[in-house]
Amino acid sequence: MTKNIQIAIDGPASAGKSTVAKILAKRNGYIYCDTGAMYRAVTFQSMSQQTNLDDEAAILSVLDDMLITFDYVDGMQHVYVNGVDVTEDIRTIDVTNNVSKVSAYKAVRQELVNRQKLIASENNIVMDGRDIGTVVLPNAALKIFLVASVDERAQRRFKENQAKGIDVPLETIKQDIEKRDLYDSTRKESPLVQASDAIRLDTTGMGIDDVVSAIESHLLKYT
Ligand code: C5P
Repeated sequence: MTKNIQIAIDGPASAGKSTVAKILAKRNGYIYCDTGAMYRAVTFQSMSQQTNLDDEAAILSVLDDMLITFDYVDGMQHVYVNGVDVTEDIRTIDVTNNVSKVSAYKAVRQELVNRQKLIASENNIVMDGRDIGTVVLPNAALKIFLVASVDERAQRRFKENQAKGIDVPLETIKQDIEKRDLYDSTRKESPLVQASDAIRLDTTGMGIDDVVSAIESHLLKYT
């Protein structure tokens, strides 16, 4: 039994999980844990050490030497590996294209899930990812499964990229999202799937504020 309040937010790529989770955490005084950033950090670190991404044991040994921490600078989440800020590095197209391969490894998942459970045991938390409601926090007070049409998700990512000066065609983004979703939802180890007790929220056509309000209306029952 845990005394901490846990909110699990899962869903496919670019469904707005992290944007919503961050706002929810801030407004309710919870900490936010972006588990995707942890899988991305392992992928980035393995790639920078020229580790063969087909070699699960080698990746695990990279992970064993990694301390992954989060911090906030001017309201923005930063991710550190052994004290080095990798916030930007883990969002590159190269990392995005390889992360699903790394996250499919059982041993990598076991290690990161253990770390995620530990973080959640010590704090009121909003955690987002793919297996939070099913594997990491099966007893979470509130489980949300966020979905949106692939066209809308691609549009959102396209706009984010444009704002950052990153020029990737909309169609490429859409194909990458579809590919990653397929990989994540068909892998053997804790695939992306809605928990039986999760609330499904289709955010197609919804603004962020409306999504946050919809989730908070459910949260009221638990606080
Ligand atoms: O959330 P984000 O898109 O940054 O996640 C990157 C990748 O990390 C996902 O495509 C998935 O392969 C993996 N992931 C996962 N389990 C989680 C969170 C992310 O497998 N809990």
